[in-house]
Amino acid sequence: MSPLEKTQINSVHYLLVCDAQVLAKSPGDVLFGRLEIEDALNTAVGQGIVTTQSLTVAIDQSVLVNRNDDFEVRLVAFSKKVAKSLLDHYNTSENALNWLTLRSLIVEEFSEQFYLLSRAIQLYHWLEDHRYCGVCAGKTRSHTTEPALMCSRCKRFWYPRIQPCVIVLIHKNNDEVLLAKHGKYISDMYSCIAGFVESGETLEQAARREIKEEVGVDVDELQYFSSQPWPFPNQLMIGFFARYNGGEIIIDGDEIIDAKWFSLKQLPVTPPKTSIAGQMIEFLVQRQR
Ligand SMILES: [Zn+2]
Repeated sequence: MSPLEKTQINSVHYLLVCDAQVLAKSPGDVLFGRLEIEDALNTAVGQGIVTTQSLTVAIDQSVLVNRNDDFEVRLVAFSKKVAKSLLDHYNTSENALNWLTLRSLIVEEFSEQFYLLSRAIQLYHWLEDHRYCGVCAGKTRSHTTEPALMCSRCKRFWYPRIQPCVIVLIHKNNDEVLLAKHGKYISDMYSCIAGFVESGETLEQAARREIKEEVGVDVDELQYFSSQPWPFPNQLMIGFFARYNGGEIIIDGDEIIDAKWFSLKQLPVTPPKTSIAGQMIEFLVQRQR
């Protein structure tokens, strides 16, 4: 039985997030009942790292992550200061709790849990970035019914932000793809072209601009593939195939340190199939067979 199935009763469950890591009772079991939170954190409470009162406040300020007819999941976010003390405390204590990072889950199969955690981590970053109102600097509080933070002074609402990013796989003759090695990768991985959509741009304009900036070639037809939320920290990746239409590869040598055409039959190390980049490459490999 999955951790989610197990908790399908009329109740509220909590995800505890500390500095973009999620507390787990055991690997894969990340949902806590209210009493279980106090239980899990009792040594930290005993040592005054988290007070019972601050725990109550954190739970009262929890943010809705997901809700269905039977249960809801809420996010309890600890401030960076408390998070550091908690992580230090449990990393050195004998009964260490498991702190999962989302990155560690990417190599696994995408699961319902990944999407739940992905949303929770995105909300966590949003809470961290919006503790004060951007207009009047008043303190914000989570709204009781809206999925928003509300300024306690000017009453303005602040909703979670999502950053759209295009991700493009350039192909030619149905058997070759243009893949690039990004400067920020430490491994030998080659992947698609990707970048943020700028203000006032359509997705298609962003895709064509990123291709020109990063590898310099011309493309004609753009074809939508699918999309994927990417919580590092808050992107929505929108995938396109782009058909090559001439031009030599020119790289900037900074963001992109290498780019080449690869036969679909002889690919380099590419992103895992849990990522949209991996799925797009796999789609063309399968289509060619
Ligand atoms: Zn305000």
